[in-house]
Amino acid sequence: MAHKDYYEILGVPRNATQEEIKKAYRRLARKYHPDANPDNKEEAAAKFREITEAYAVLSDPEKRAQYDRYGHVGPEGQGINFDFRQADFEEIFRDLGFGFGDLFETLFGFRRPQAGPRRGADLEVELELSFREAIFGAEKEVPVPRTERCPTCQGTGCQPGTRVEKCPACGGTGHLTFARSTPFGQFIQTRTCDRCGGTGEFISHPCTTCRGTGQVKKRRQVKVRIPAGVEDGMRLRLRGEGEAGVHGGPPGDLYILLRVKPDPVFKRQGDDLWCEIPISFPQAALGAEVEVPTLEGPDREGKVRLRIPPGTQPGELLKVKGKGVPTPYGRGDLWVQVRLVVPTKLTERQKELLQEFARLSGEEVRPEEKSFFKRVRDAWR
Ligand SMILES: [Zn+2]
Ligand SMILES: [Zn+2]
Repeated sequence: MAHKDYYEILGVPRNATQEEIKKAYRRLARKYHPDANPDNKEEAAAKFREITEAYAVLSDPEKRAQYDRYGHVGPEGQGINFDFRQADFEEIFRDLGFGFGDLFETLFGFRRPQAGPRRGADLEVELELSFREAIFGAEKEVPVPRTERCPTCQGTGCQPGTRVEKCPACGGTGHLTFARSTPFGQFIQTRTCDRCGGTGEFISHPCTTCRGTGQVKKRRQVKVRIPAGVEDGMRLRLRGEGEAGVHGGPPGDLYILLRVKPDPVFKRQGDDLWCEIPISFPQAALGAEVEVPTLEGPDREGKVRLRIPPGTQPGELLKVKGKGVPTPYGRGDLWVQVRLVVPTKLTERQKELLQEFARLSGEEVRPEEKSFFKRVRDAWR
């Protein structure tokens, strides 16, 4: 069966942020949740399965990167091995007011997560860098809103002095067994316990700080070391700086999406830099030594002298060695492109000299009106 594009399924552009993807999924989940479609459960469930799969992949930065690169085929040709349990479905459904219950078991054929340790979700934040910071590297601090282990209850969700108890509804098993009578006889059915959501746990005195979740939202300044030579669109991964784990699980990772601001003077081409300098016709013809800006120093103080060889042509590229992007294997070069500037204001003396120059080169120049009439006048005197 041909797969539909995950971005299309969620109706988001390929460059959508994690926040936009989550928003789109929440909107669609509200629309297609089987509980919200009692009249056409089947159809809604199929659609729900589709959006949930798309979200499970696109909400995980690592799986999303694999999907962007390899599509549905996956990196090893085996498809993308996504895991519904990694995504934040439980939180989303709680917010939407839907049951989590045995929905996943029915739709996807596996048991929902038990109370064991679970790894926290990965996070992604954007960080804007100046052109210079991207070239030379920097130490930055980036605000990251994330969940952390509740300091009051140490993540247990219980008020200090109390402890987690067995769920009274299911006796700690996480599921309920009941018999159903039908015209064809009695059936024994098992479903996930509604009371504890399948965890088998019950908190009689929830911690007031985190309302029993064991986690609190915090906005933290996370220190990021930006290595030299990074480029726009790169992602850095900070291990263990994502969302807190559940029930003693390890925290997720934090991905930093780098956005590099363009520079008014310099452009980057791989490991090399490029800039343009204006020179005059005499400088180009006779040769000169000019000052060229480099990216060195916080205020571009580090100018270098560059020799313009005699006979340099407009648009010619001159190389300043080793003033490009630092890389682990050396440093790129700075390419200076020559722009010939033609003067627009000339003194009488400069005009005379240029006309003399043109005459010597055997070129015709249009005589300047005023001096032409002046010469006519002079001739009649
Ligand atoms: Zn707490
Ligand atoms: Zn229970």
